[in-house]
Parts: sequence; structure tokens; C-alpha cells
Amino acid sequence: MLKIHAIGGYNEVGKNMTALQIDDDVILFDAGLFLPAIVGVQEREKVPTERGMRSIGALPDDLYLEKHNLRDKVRAILVSHAHLDHVGGIPYLAPRYKAKVLGTPFTMEFLKTLLEDNKHSLPNEIVRVKPNGHYFIKGKKDYRVEFINITHSTIQCALIAVHTPQGVIMYANDYKLDNSPVFGEKTNYQRLKELSKQGVKALIVDCLYAPDDRKTPSEKIAKGLLEDVFYTTENQKSAIIVSTFSSHIARLKTITEIGRKIGREVIFMGRSLSKYVNAANSVGQAPFRNQIYLASFRKQVEKTLKRINKDRHRYLIVCTGHQGEPGAILDRLSRNQLPFKLNKEDQILFSSKTIPSPINEENKQELERRLKKSNVRIFDNLHVSGHGGREDLRELIKLIKPEHVIPSHGDIKKLTAGANLAQEMGYSLNKTVHILENGKEILLK
Ligand SMILES: [Zn+2]
Repeated sequence: MLKIHAIGGYNEVGKNMTALQIDDDVILFDAGLFLPAIVGVQEREKVPTERGMRSIGALPDDLYLEKHNLRDKVRAILVSHAHLDHVGGIPYLAPRYKAKVLGTPFTMEFLKTLLEDNKHSLPNEIVRVKPNGHYFIKGKKDYRVEFINITHSTIQCALIAVHTPQGVIMYANDYKLDNSPVFGEKTNYQRLKELSKQGVKALIVDCLYAPDDRKTPSEKIAKGLLEDVFYTTENQKSAIIVSTFSSHIARLKTITEIGRKIGREVIFMGRSLSKYVNAANSVGQAPFRNQIYLASFRKQVEKTLKRINKDRHRYLIVCTGHQGEPGAILDRLSRNQLPFKLNKEDQILFSSKTIPSPINEENKQELERRLKKSNVRIFDNLHVSGHGGREDLRELIKLIKPEHVIPSHGDIKKLTAGANLAQEMGYSLNKTVHILENGKEILLK
């Protein structure tokens, strides 16, 4: 018997969790946070409890597993990558299971940082599986699981393949198909082709941008957008402040390189940046680490900003706060809460896109309004997405040729768009393509 249980991330973007049940064995994919629920919590000093996190709707409802007598059958939790909507729930939920937690070295190193930062400790054994490596999970039966390298907006992202007696189950949350990544390896097409030949039973797949008719551009395009601003605008006397996703190691590498090319000392600021960069560095994946100065704690940040304030044209600041998050560096700069004064024509570069939720949109708008009081120049959207569009999804389905397609990572609109594409490709609704919602299951025949 082979079942897929949708636990989180099928009614919304975030709190991803899916359970794969093979008779009396359950393997969980991801345990993520619902980020809009915790805006601002990240930069706060006090750590919320599991109960607190559940009450604000930040965690996937894994009590579902208890209700269905599946909790004691969980043998492993496989984490696809180091984004908080995939790994951020682990510190709260993993202790509830007698199960190992598996992920690539960077993902597990980041998890370690998260745990240390929140003074959590896990009773679970943590297993690091190299990109394109595999591991055997023991349950009533043994399962070979593979962490196949796939491109995304953080490093060492894995498409996870679980070999079951009824066929291979693939979990592709999240992915893009970047054929010229600026850092890290391309998607392991070779392995995907091999598995496709052997036959793939089901593909659970990221449909965040399934409604968008596009192929998501390569990260090299984001590099071009940044180079254009750095190299061709008048910035010799200005402060330059860039904000981007802290987990985007490739983007941080690009920004560091460009900053140094225009002769600036590169300074990273903020706690979440420091968490991700240090995790990457610990596993040998931050080649720029010795080319930057990293200010993480409040006092360090303030001291460094005082120095920059006197000599702004010599530095490039990379900081947190591109979504207008309260308490992040950019937020505090805009409120004059830091010892740095924004001057006319200082440059603020958003190497990001505002995540479309009402709270983010409002925060970002307010941030820009405050920044503009100082007559700074704002460069928005110097960014490409880490998620595949509709035409990437088509390529992935063509490549893998799964028997069943299960759209995930979004609300009903996004999942339906993914399902429509599958139908266009010959799949039939409720037979070989399945739209799930949180708390629902399907039996794969
Ligand atoms: Zn992601």
C-alpha cells in the first residue's frame, strides 16, 4: 500500500510537509514554517515555543499523523533544502518522532545553526547525505533514499527520490532548472534520466509558479542586473546598500565579487545573513567568506556603521530587511535607529522580490516610504526567482515521466495550474494527477 498524505503546503505557500506511507512505514518530507506568521519573530531575541508557534499557525498540522495512527510509524524526516519554509519546523516537530533527520551537509549545518541560535536540542540523529549521495532508511522494510542535486535559490538543494517496492517516489520541492548556475552544480539530469527509465511512480512537485507562462531565467541574469547598476550608475560618492535573501549563497557571492571590483570593502550585516553564511562556510561552500567582514550582533553592527558613516564611498553594505521585516537592519536604518545617516543619492539595491503576502507588501511599502524621505535612489527587483515556471514544470515532467503527478507548494490556484498542465500533457485528473489539500491523502495504485 502506497499513500501520500498532504500535511502542509497544499493550501498555502509555506509550512511544507508531506508524508509518504508504505504499509507500516512513514517517511516525512520537510517540516517548514509558514513565514507570514512569523514576520519579525526571526530578528527578535526571545524564542517562541512549539505551542506558541502552533497557535500562530506557523507550523504544519502534523497532529494529523497522530489522528491517523501514523506517528509511531515515522522512520525518517528528509529535508529537501535550507529554506525556512522547509526546514524551519524541524526544531519544533522532529523531537516528536523517533526518526532520523536527513539532509545535505549545508542543509544540516544550517539546521544546527538554527538549533544553537534558539537553544534547542534534538534527540534525533542527524544524517548528512552528500549531494547526489544516498542512504538506507530502516523500517519494516529498507528504503534507499537519494538526494539528487537540483538548482534552486540556495545551495545543496535536493530532489529526493525514495525507492519503494511499488516504485520510486520523487519529491521536488523546490527547484528551478538553471543551466548556467553562477555557483554550484547544474541539476543532475543524468540521474533523473536513469530513474525515469527505471520508472517513477509519483512526482510531488513545486507548483509555485505553475500559473506563470515562462521559463525562469538563470541566476546569471540576476548577476547581469546587478552589474548594470554597480558599473553604470553614478555611485562614486554614495553609500551602496544591497539587501537580498540571506540563504542565497550564489547571489551573495556575486554581490561580493562585484563590490570588490568597484573597489569597495564588503560588509555583511544581520543575524540571518550570518547564520547562512557561516553554515555555508562550515561545509566549504562560501568561497567569499574571507573577502567580507561579517557583523552579526547589535554592538558589532553599530560600531561598524559608525565607521562606514564617515567614509561611505569605501564600503558596500549587504544587509537583511528586503521584505521590510521589522527589526531587520534596513528597517532600523530607515527609522534612524542606527548610527548611520542616509544621504541624498545613496543607493539602496533590492536584490529580491517582495513575497506576495499582504503583510510583506505593506512592510515593504512603508520601508520605501521612510527611505525616500532621505532622497535615496532605490533599485528594486534586481532578482530572478528560484522557482521554475510553467515551462520548467513541463520540462521536468517530460524528463521524469512519472506515473502520477502531485502538485504542491501552493494554494488551490497554483496546484490547479500545475494539474492543468499535466492534463495538457496527457495525465487525467484524479487518476494520474491529483490535487490535494492539507489533511487529505491519496492511495497510489
Ligand atoms: Zn526554497
